[in-house]
Order: sequence, then structure tokens, then C-alpha cells
Amino acid sequence: MLLKCQNCGRTFNIARKVPWCECGGVFDLDFVPDSLDIDPCDFSFWRYGGVLPVQERVSLGEPITPIVPLLVENRNVSAKLEYLLPTGSFKDRGAAILVSAMRESGVDRFMEDSSGNAAAAMSAYAARAGMRCEIFCPASASPVKLIQVERSGATIHRIEGSRDQTTAAVMSRAGEIFYASHNWHPLFLHGTKTMAYEIAEQSHWVLPDHILAPTGGGAVLLGLHLGFTELMKLGRTSTMPKLHAVQAEACAPLVQNPVQPAPSLAEGILTSKPPRLSMLRRVVDSVIVVSEPEILQGFRFLNACGFNAEPTSAVVVPALRKMNIPPDESVLVVLTGSGMKSWNGVSGA
Ligand SMILES: [Zn+2]
Repeated sequence: MLLKCQNCGRTFNIARKVPWCECGGVFDLDFVPDSLDIDPCDFSFWRYGGVLPVQERVSLGEPITPIVPLLVENRNVSAKLEYLLPTGSFKDRGAAILVSAMRESGVDRFMEDSSGNAAAAMSAYAARAGMRCEIFCPASASPVKLIQVERSGATIHRIEGSRDQTTAAVMSRAGEIFYASHNWHPLFLHGTKTMAYEIAEQSHWVLPDHILAPTGGGAVLLGLHLGFTELMKLGRTSTMPKLHAVQAEACAPLVQNPVQPAPSLAEGILTSKPPRLSMLRRVVDSVIVVSEPEILQGFRFLNACGFNAEPTSAVVVPALRKMNIPPDESVLVVLTGSGMKSWNGVSGA
């Protein structure tokens, strides 16, 4: 299994410290699953072990996340509760696979940058694997996310300024130690793709017509696209749901150029230069941009329905209201992160 540059086709060993090619291109993983043997006794995403590119399993007990009905403006949608994963966000999927692959490859130390959820996930899985990690976070990140990182024993670097300045700080050290970037590294997407397998199985192999997800670096939608593509190649499904990216007005690189990021309640999706932006443009069917008052309203709506998702996840609610999806087409929204750790001055009501 190798890293393969999307741009020039060169291949590199998995243990390469820098997660991009010498030509600047992003990597795919040279890995295509040839069968799907579901382990019926395993109630985590490891039940799809045959399609995962690792033998090693660094696990914190990832449950199959529930899909529950949610009524938004008289429309019945399904909500996938990704915030119920071990550290409280969908990032655990990518972290489990990336950390497992690192341990398999003999990597014992890495660095990562994140607005919080990926940092919490990567540091927790590093702790589980007995690996050392350095985490770069915006100093403005939710305190609870930073506490999660600290408690796991990671070295934390708080970077003043925007999310992009945090990325710049970690990239200045590229090549020193393994950069396990959730935005750059293709192994992360082979973790988030498990969401597609779960949705397919939970939907009895009849996929929803539309899926909406909060979108920053694109790990949800790119992972879903990868998983659904594999499922079609494996002959398990025959359709690709329409994938809709929801971005905050404060930072919407899918529709703004150039992007001038502003502070936002949706702190998890403020990535102004996603490494896989052109790939993301290819896989999404539409982009919906929502304002700060709309995000707050969506957050309060979810809370009032009993869903403890973070404000970043709530962007899907106003997005649904703005879309004109025919009533007979099915919709799934991904609630990506937990409200338990979003103590950034937002109250529920
Ligand atoms: Zn290249």
C-alpha cells in the first residue's frame, strides 16, 4: 500500500513524513478493496474490516452511530449522530485508521493541526496507541477541546490568530516529524468513508437521495464519496446520493475567492484553503452558505429538539430551509460534533 500523487502519479511509502508530493499534489491511497465481508459480531465500524487499509486496530470502541428521524419545517429528515463517537466527533473515524496505519508503519511520533475536534481525536488515539503527539490549535479554540487534548498527554501549541495561522505554524515544521494532517492525509478519508458503509447498511442498502454535511476541509463528504464509490464497485449499491456542502458565510472557499475568514460560531469549518478543494468541487452537487444568525438559530433548534450537537453541526438546519428538495426525496444530515465541548459563549436558548 502506497501514497500516490493525484497530480504526477509518483508513489511514496506510507511512513513519508510530509503528506503531500514534491510537486505539491495531494495523495490518494493506492488501495482498492475487493470484497466486503461484514463481521456480524462486531458492532463498530471495524465490522467492515475487509475494506479498511490496515491490519492493526487502534480502537476506543467506536459505536455504529444512530440514524434518527428529525422534523425540520414539516420535512422528515434523518440525522446521523456522529457526535456519539468516543471523543465526540466524526473525526474519530479518520483518527482510528490514520493512527492504526502509523503504528503499523513504525511511526511513534506525529504532529497535527486542528480547530479542536481532530486534535481531540488524534491525541486520544495517540494515547491509546502509546504514541507521542504534538497538537497545534488556534488559541481561540473551544476550551473543552483543548482540555481534551491536554488530558490525553499531547504537547499542545496554542497559536494566536486565524485557523490558517495554525496551519502555517505546523507546516513550518514539515519534514521534522510525521505530519498526520486530517486535511492532507488520504488515510483519514479511509476512516471517514466508514460512515458511508454504515449509512448503506442502516438504510438496508437503499441510500438517501441527499446528504448534507458541514464542510471545512471536506473530510465528511470526501469520505462519503469514497465509501459510496467503493460500495458501487463492490456491487452493493447502485446510486450515489447527492452530496451537499454547507459552509459558513465567514469562510466559504467553495464559493468565495479569495476567502477572508471571519470569526464564526461554526469554528469547525473555518478552513480557508482546503488541500482537497478541487476534489471537493468535483464531488459536491451543491454548496449552501449560511449566516451567523442562521447558525445560531439552527443550534437553538437542535437543542430544543434534544440534540446536543455543536454549533458547527447546526449549519445543516438553515441549509435545509434554503434548499428546494422535492418532498418525496429522502434527506440525511450529518451532526458532526458534540455540543458538550462547544463552550464558546453560546447558550441554547
Ligand atoms: Zn506529484
